[in-house]
Amino acid sequence: MDTRRTHPMTSDEPLLLTPGPLTVSESTRQAMNRNWGARDPIFIEMTARLRHRLCELAGGGPGYTCVPIQGSGTFAVEAMLGTLVGPGDKLLVLANGAYGRRMAEMCARMGRDHTILESAEDTPPDPLRVEAALAADDAITHVAVVQCETTTGIVNPVAEIAAIVAASGRSLLVDAMSAFGALPLDAASLPCQALAASANKCLEGVPGVAFVIARADALAAAGDNAPSLSLDLAGQWRGFEANGQWRFTAPTQVVAALDQALDEHAAEGGVAGRGARYRRNRDVLVEGMRAMGFETYLPDAVQAPIIVTFHSPADPNFDFEAFYAALARRGYLIYPGKLTRADTFRIGCIGHIGEAEIRGALDAVREVLDELGVKQRGKRAA
Ligand SMILES: *Cc1c(COP(=O)(O)O)cnc(C)c1O
Repeated sequence: MDTRRTHPMTSDEPLLLTPGPLTVSESTRQAMNRNWGARDPIFIEMTARLRHRLCELAGGGPGYTCVPIQGSGTFAVEAMLGTLVGPGDKLLVLANGAYGRRMAEMCARMGRDHTILESAEDTPPDPLRVEAALAADDAITHVAVVQCETTTGIVNPVAEIAAIVAASGRSLLVDAMSAFGALPLDAASLPCQALAASANKCLEGVPGVAFVIARADALAAAGDNAPSLSLDLAGQWRGFEANGQWRFTAPTQVVAALDQALDEHAAEGGVAGRGARYRRNRDVLVEGMRAMGFETYLPDAVQAPIIVTFHSPADPNFDFEAFYAALARRGYLIYPGKLTRADTFRIGCIGHIGEAEIRGALDAVREVLDELGVKQRGKRAA
């Protein structure tokens, strides 16, 4: 039974079919509605519970710890790289989209030695090429990979890559942002040294806090590696370990919302339950859009149940801005494309939405296509 509310078309509140911020439940929003003192035992206990539950969700055994950090997901990724990739280290970044490239940009900004192994945006990184790159360069100490590249919605072969990285004696860092909580990822059995994710993707919390699950020995060894004071993951960790408190102003309401969102995640059946709902959302979305003539950018085999990229229709009457605005007027917010080579747009499958909301969005798309006179829905000829 789908218990999600159907979208009230009369409400002025939109449904977010975007990969963050995304639609969150009323109860998660309500959980924020009070004040907490950051040094109050109630809040310290809430923070400890949060760290513990996130670590468990990541399959982090006793060797792992969870370090939450204020900010959006990018803050956690930057803290992870700046802290764990030291000045004498070198990072191999696997990039098949904007988030992979962003990690390389962070290294450049922080003055960290790095090299990029690019693959096409519709193609997962080839584990054999990763193996060859590691064999060819002894200086590489770490490898970074994005589990689900939200640029397209492609799922990358993290487990195969992890096995190669481990066999070569290097350390793996995972940007697990967009799929954490919906696609399985087991830090200890992968294995990885650290993974980064945030409250406001598949966990359906509100934006404002992100976190890294990392090996405690790696954090202990990192010392003062971090080139930034506020994005020093080891410093943040030492703070939590010392007194259970946040180093700088705690995002109290955001933590409370995530605490509630984690209750709802567990009640839905954890990663399996959440993943099943998102897969259903994706399948209904893709089937409905294809029935209207749209084409997906990715082959089904590598399409994650997180966000789907569609080719813009060939019809000259199609204009993304007009399409977006007409959908927004009907209460549905979608996402522009982010590809370097293809004209596309994206629709998210994540957030507190179910099949009914996706079907509502499909009805709205159908109306808007009629309104705009878009008859040719397939992609433009290359
Ligand atoms: C959302 C996301 C991030 C973080 O983005 P923010 O806008 O900083 O929250 C990083 N990596 C991936 C793959 C993401 O989907």
